[in-house]
Amino acid sequence: MAIQRILIANRGEIALRIHRAAHEMGIETVAVHSTADADAMHVRLADHAVCIGPPAAKDSYLNVAAIISAAEITHADAIHPGYGFLSENAKFAEIVEAHGITWIGPKPEHIRTMGDKVEAKRTAGALGLPLVPGSDGAVSEIEDAKRIAAEVGYPVIIKAASGGGGRGMKVCTGPEELETLIQQAGSEAKAAFGDATVYIEKYLGNPRHIEFQIFGDGNGNAIHLGERDCSLQRRHQKVLEEAPSPVISAEERDRMGGIVSKAMADMGYRGAGTIEFLWENGEFYFIEMNTRLQVEHPVTEAITGVDLVREQIRIADGKPLSVKQDEIEFKGHAIECRINAEDPFTFTPSPGLVKSYHAAGGMHVRVDSGLYAGYKIPPYYDSMIAKLIVYGRTREGCIMRLRRALQEMVIEGPKTSIPLHQRLLTQPDFLSGDYTIKWLEEWLAKDA
Ligand code: ADP
Repeated sequence: MAIQRILIANRGEIALRIHRAAHEMGIETVAVHSTADADAMHVRLADHAVCIGPPAAKDSYLNVAAIISAAEITHADAIHPGYGFLSENAKFAEIVEAHGITWIGPKPEHIRTMGDKVEAKRTAGALGLPLVPGSDGAVSEIEDAKRIAAEVGYPVIIKAASGGGGRGMKVCTGPEELETLIQQAGSEAKAAFGDATVYIEKYLGNPRHIEFQIFGDGNGNAIHLGERDCSLQRRHQKVLEEAPSPVISAEERDRMGGIVSKAMADMGYRGAGTIEFLWENGEFYFIEMNTRLQVEHPVTEAITGVDLVREQIRIADGKPLSVKQDEIEFKGHAIECRINAEDPFTFTPSPGLVKSYHAAGGMHVRVDSGLYAGYKIPPYYDSMIAKLIVYGRTREGCIMRLRRALQEMVIEGPKTSIPLHQRLLTQPDFLSGDYTIKWLEEWLAKDA
């Protein structure tokens, strides 16, 4: 039977995003929330709401038993996990399915494989994706490590198999520091992720971060929806994303998109996924796959016209993909600015009361946010409070419109990253699209 009531196991803008897609499909929603989020917009708008625990995420948004109970008492027949929190937890996906509730996400075994980066790399390699040269699997013996590092050439990067969020990585410039860094990386990974497994990769000096959006129906059919360029990062956190990438030609998009969608079809992948690459000197190198919706998914929606959350819900419901590859057209350009409640120079979080709020509007301007005047941004969670997504027929037009939209946004009370985006949009390197994953931090170091 078709999904009738979705429990949204998340908070903030993404909870609202899922609520909107569900209501547009005539599906009811259940919000779950911590005590700190009782006044949140998605809780107000949802058809039903259940408080699942105190502010700390481990007691609420990560509290599996409370979330499953909430689904049972509200008779939710599906769960959408959003991003972060439990979205890439294979065990949670299995528990949801074991309760006879539809999991709006990939098959648990694929979440598990891709969550272990060593396994993910092995799988990606076997499916024909180009890899960053490095160890073929985990590295435990120092002699092996030395041999591999010498083969691929220094500098190398030591990464944790269970790492995430840009943590647990060490760059090593020569054989003399390899042993110490491997030991450090292993013990830090053990402390942070409960798993000391590490592997080695060639450290690429100045790449871009380019990722492909894919969708599978779980039965051997898959499509790609082009790439996003997420090279503007601070501490491995994305700040601004755009689609298409300023450096990828239509031929390259078709070629790589063909490779990734074939890989996903061969795997029998179900639902939304993102395949992340580093890109240097015209070559792609797979780094990881995210088995969930991404924060930056709206830029893909803007240039393809496909509603990715709706598509996720349809596929979870057992329906086929709503579009075929040859029906997907990439049109125009879209940019997303992540607006955080933080000081735009020091990046210290700035939670608290929103005294007044006015969202930008007008043609091709989208604001995904749960903000309203009188809302109190809680200090317990991620500092992202809004996403501003702007579309234009050309990249130049998109940037002009984005400047105009940023001028219109008013968020009084907390400090926000709006001034940072405004400065960024005047930089010649940004305007020409000439930037790599190092660019933003280097600019901040000399300009701030
Ligand atoms: P996480 O899951 O922690 O986000 P990723 O493997 O996606 O880890 O890497 C995060 C970021 O680290 C990349 O976007 C890039 O900036 C940097 N990085 C990862 N691997 C390499 C590499 N081999 N060479 C250079 N930079 C890298």
